[in-house]
Amino acid sequence: LTFENAGLRDIIMNNVRKSGYTVPTPIQKTAIPVIMDGRDLMACAQTGSGKTAAFLLPIINGILGESFDLSIGKPQAVIVSPTRELAIQIFSEARKFALGSYLKISIVYGGTSSKYQGENIAKGCHILICTPGRLLDFVEKGFITFEETRYVVLDEADRMMDMGFKDNVNTLMNHPTMRPMDERQNLMFSATFPEEIQRLAGAYLSNYIFITI
Ligand code: AMP
Repeated sequence: LTFENAGLRDIIMNNVRKSGYTVPTPIQKTAIPVIMDGRDLMACAQTGSGKTAAFLLPIINGILGESFDLSIGKPQAVIVSPTRELAIQIFSEARKFALGSYLKISIVYGGTSSKYQGENIAKGCHILICTPGRLLDFVEKGFITFEETRYVVLDEADRMMDMGFKDNVNTLMNHPTMRPMDERQNLMFSATFPEEIQRLAGAYLSNYIFITI
């Protein structure tokens, strides 16, 4: 796989080129076709492997293809990250790859006032990048629901568990507004693959492809 033959839209390819990415990393070579094929994915990959673009590129590509309307409080993709630092990194990569498109991307994370984040969400977003606790705050207030959510990404799932987000993740994945498992695409990334993560993969992914690099 190259970026050129990956089947990405021109607008995304332009942004990939502008980012200085010429050759896909191993995780990108293996994960991008799987995600573009519509499959659920469990990928073991470290930070620094290029995993962020591995999920962002096919998700942005997919959402742009569906010409989804913007429904307030109903994101088409939800990307959950254990820390605000990681969430901010994912957010800035997502904005870079979606540059020049109509996609709206928002971020919510804890440890800071939710007022501005709430106002931002109220304008609507296609892609929501979040930390688990703050996401659930907004979900519990009814500001965010998942009827339109086609992609759910759990990034650094092992760290998410180590940080005590197990119940939050469970509440999210089993939320009553979530579409049935086979009507959304579920992607999990983790640096390690201990028993607990294997169990989560079994619970939250449907007929998934396993990749380790
Ligand atoms: P990540 O593992 O997603 O945190 O990415 C690690 C770093 O590698 C980030 O700074 C990315 O911008 C960069 N990166 C990801 N994919 C590529 C690529 N194909 N070519 C060059 N740099 C990349």
